[in-house]
Amino acid sequence: MTKTPLELYPIFIIFGALVGSFLNVVIYRVPRNLSVVTPRSSCVFCGYKIKWYENIPILSYILLRGKCKKCHSPIPIRYLLVEILCAFFAYFLIPSFLDFESIYLFIFLFTIASCFLAHFLIDMEHQILPDKINLVLFVVSLTYMVTKTTFTHWLIGGLVGFIIPYIVTWSFYKLRGVIGLGGGDIKLFGILGIVLGPVAIVQNLFMSCLLGSIVGIVLILTKRMSRSTALAFGPYIIIIASLQIFFPSLFRIINPFSI
Ligand SMILES: [Zn+2]
Repeated sequence: MTKTPLELYPIFIIFGALVGSFLNVVIYRVPRNLSVVTPRSSCVFCGYKIKWYENIPILSYILLRGKCKKCHSPIPIRYLLVEILCAFFAYFLIPSFLDFESIYLFIFLFTIASCFLAHFLIDMEHQILPDKINLVLFVVSLTYMVTKTTFTHWLIGGLVGFIIPYIVTWSFYKLRGVIGLGGGDIKLFGILGIVLGPVAIVQNLFMSCLLGSIVGIVLILTKRMSRSTALAFGPYIIIIASLQIFFPSLFRIINPFSI
């Protein structure tokens, strides 16, 4: 097997930053129902069409000092952070070897990380987990897991992940007339069930609810939120799932029986 040579590392990092640049377009346009392909990126304040050489990930932001070239309106720091984070994801996930299996795993994990980042930021701002991003996650997860695990992992995991939150939400609605989890949350749980399997998805359900409740209580007690405010739940699912997928050893410490 060929070990990944150090000279290829910058290519992975540049690839990550380029995906980050595209992800910025996704994060802005998908929740607004705009096309991610056309038109070319422009300044949201003055409509100035950004030239390709002003749209180089990370570098352009620094060279333009975070301001539109024409109207000098500030470009949110989020644009730079998303590009840096995606470059970091690609670096963190660089395959050790250059064989098919390792590159396949890289593509799978990198797609998951990018979709998680988009979901996280969109849900924080708009309180939705868009179907388009869930669809990408569903396709890569199912394709990878069907070839790598038995159906007791991906099929039972997917069903458990979808059915438990669906029943809980439906019961809450029947009993109290309030919608607990949104449709996007339930779909995301189902997709994560395919990836994590039946045991770890139940672990995620418990831990993300616990984390969400703790944050909610702290926000209510510190009067930064009222009881009736809707809280985006996606970020908690994503934080726990990221730890489970990218730092699995943490869960062996918490639960020695976990897979
Ligand atoms: Zn402008």
